[in-house]
Amino acid sequence: MKDLTPNGIALRISVLVSVAITLLVFILEYLVSSVNYTLISLVFPVTFLASYVGFRIAVEKFIYKKIKVIYRTIHKLKLKKGEEEKEFSLTQIQTEVEDWDKLNKEEIERLKGLENYRREFVGNVSHELKTPIFNIQGYLLTLLEGGLEDPNINVKYLEKANKGVDRMISLIENLDEISKLESGAIEIKMEKLDIASVIKEVSASLEMSAKKNNISIVFVDEPNKPIWVKADAQGINQVLVNLIVNSLKYGVEDGETLIKLFDMHDNILIEVADNGQGIAPEHLPRLFERFYRTDKGRARETGGTGLGLSIVKHIIEAHNQTINVRSTEGVGSTFSFTLKKA
Ligand code: ADP
Repeated sequence: MKDLTPNGIALRISVLVSVAITLLVFILEYLVSSVNYTLISLVFPVTFLASYVGFRIAVEKFIYKKIKVIYRTIHKLKLKKGEEEKEFSLTQIQTEVEDWDKLNKEEIERLKGLENYRREFVGNVSHELKTPIFNIQGYLLTLLEGGLEDPNINVKYLEKANKGVDRMISLIENLDEISKLESGAIEIKMEKLDIASVIKEVSASLEMSAKKNNISIVFVDEPNKPIWVKADAQGINQVLVNLIVNSLKYGVEDGETLIKLFDMHDNILIEVADNGQGIAPEHLPRLFERFYRTDKGRARETGGTGLGLSIVKHIIEAHNQTINVRSTEGVGSTFSFTLKKA
């Protein structure tokens, strides 16, 4: 009985009612005079038909009235701004409630995903902050417990503590930048930009770090005319800095970082390639995730926060463009992204 439809309920009641009426007519006829079988054979279908139509409408109306309130609430939740509330049939209600249920399940899955992401993010941040804080505390305690008087370590330990502070600052700056990019607080200002001169400026500003690592930065086939693209100057500057700094950090002594431009119809493809340590294939799919590092120890030594590539990806995606990486361990890595021509 529990899965009865309005149709099923009306059918059952109609059968009962028409059987009862037919029986009643039969008994009355039997008692009053002789039974007219032609009349009896007509009473059943007529009463059945009439009661079926009547009950069907009544049951539908009854159910409709009962679930109207629930439906209205669900429907209101689903309505978009400015959308009018419309009349509905029972079949429509069923489809809409099923849709609503599906939507709710998807929303719950999305919220669960966000919750996991939040938990993982908070865990990562506290883990990343713990290392420099404990290091700083260690150096300061040693200094307080007598190290300050020891000329062999006092300046050295202060410098190390200062390095820890620098690490924390860059971590916090990167986190701040990522959260601003994600919340849309940093606006991407698209302007006509000569990408060739941006590359030249960024390369020049990193010349000192490159020298320290004995790596040369080469702009291959440096164009002697402007290459106009549509991009956010500050964002693209940051992308190039992050990619070139990585090529120096994970490069080899006497290595080189090659920057190339390719004309691709509507786009310009920018490549930053190094002949450094390279990246194992299993790391490539996760490389642009926050805090992802292929070698945690080495990356920390080089002052990496694990956020550089994730910032790069955010900026490129805000330009509606893509970034890719190809790499071979021991041979080198190539990062490439596109920008729309202006
Ligand atoms: P980090 O601050 O650790 O450098 P990134 O997000 O910039 O963080 O990079 C994530 C990881 O990707 C790095 O820790 C490193 O393992 C790897 N990686 C990035 N660029 C290169 C590269 N040019 N060569 C080799 N490995 C790289």
